[in-house]
Amino acid sequence: MNILEVKGMNKVYTGRVATHALTDIHLTIQKGEFVGIMGPSGSGKTTLLNMVSTIDRPSTGEVLIGGSNPHRMKKSELALFRRRQLGFVFQDFNLLDTLTVAENIVLPLTLDRRPVKEMDSLLFQAAERLGITEILNKRTYEISGGQRQRTAIARATITSPVLLLADEPTGALDSHSSRVVMESLTQINEKDGTTIMLVTHDPLAASYCNRIVFIKDGKLAAEIHRGESRQSF
Ligand code: ADP
Ligand code: ADP
Repeated sequence: MNILEVKGMNKVYTGRVATHALTDIHLTIQKGEFVGIMGPSGSGKTTLLNMVSTIDRPSTGEVLIGGSNPHRMKKSELALFRRRQLGFVFQDFNLLDTLTVAENIVLPLTLDRRPVKEMDSLLFQAAERLGITEILNKRTYEISGGQRQRTAIARATITSPVLLLADEPTGALDSHSSRVVMESLTQINEKDGTTIMLVTHDPLAASYCNRIVFIKDGKLAAEIHRGESRQSF
C-alpha cells in the first residue's frame, strides 16, 4: 500500500530571482518503509519535506498521503489531517519549555479532547517505547538533547500517524545521542510499522534507513536499498 505518492512535482520560489527548487519529482513510499532523503545543502530536501508536510504548496504536481490530497483540503480539514495523520520531528525539537515532558507528549491529544484515561494510557505506552518514563515530570530544559528528541518523537507518534516526517533529527545531537534517537525511530518503524521519511545530512542517521533517495539540484538523482544497490533514475 502506498502511503506517499509524489507525482510530477515542481516547486518554483518566485521573488526577485526565481528559484526552481524541485523539478519533476516522482516518489512513492510504501507502508512500513523507512526512507532517508539525502543531498547537498540547497538541493531541495527541505522544500520536498515542506510540500509533503503541507507547510508549503507545490507549483505543479500532486501529493497523495494515504490516498488523500492534503493540498486540496479546506483549512480546517487540513489542520485535522495534519494532527491525526502526520507526525513531525525537527532538528531543534520544537518542545514547549513551560510544559513538562509528559505535557509536551500529550499535546496532540489534548487538542483532540480525548478522555484523560485514554491519554494516560497512550502517554505511558509512548514513554515506555522511547525509554523516557523516568523523566516525564521534568521540564524540557532539565533533560539532555537526546532525551528532548525522544520526547519529541513520543509526541509525534502518540497519535499513531500514517507518516512520520523527520527533518535532520540528529542535527543537534552528539553521536551517542544520535544513535539512541535513530534506534528509537527504527523500533517505531519495525514494531509499530510506522512509515518514516527522514531528511538528513548525517551518514550515521542515513545508515538506519531501508532506502536512501538522493536529491541533487532539485532532482532525484539516485537511490539505494538496504541489501542491494541500484541506480534507478
Ligand atoms: P536543502 O534543504 O537541501 O538545503 P532547500 O529545500 O532549503 O534545500 O532549498 C532548495 C533551493 O530553494 C535553494 O536554492 C534555496 O535557496 C531555495 N529556497 C528554499 N526555500 C526558499 C524560499 N522560501 N524562498 C526562496 N528560495 C528558497
Ligand atoms: P536546511 O539547510 O536545513 O535545509 P536552510 O538554512 O537551507 O535549512 O533553510 C532554512 C529555512 O529557510 C527553510 O524554511 C527554507 O525554506 C528557507 N530558505 C532557504 N533558502 C531560502 C531563500 N533563498 N530565501 C528564502 N528562504 C529560504
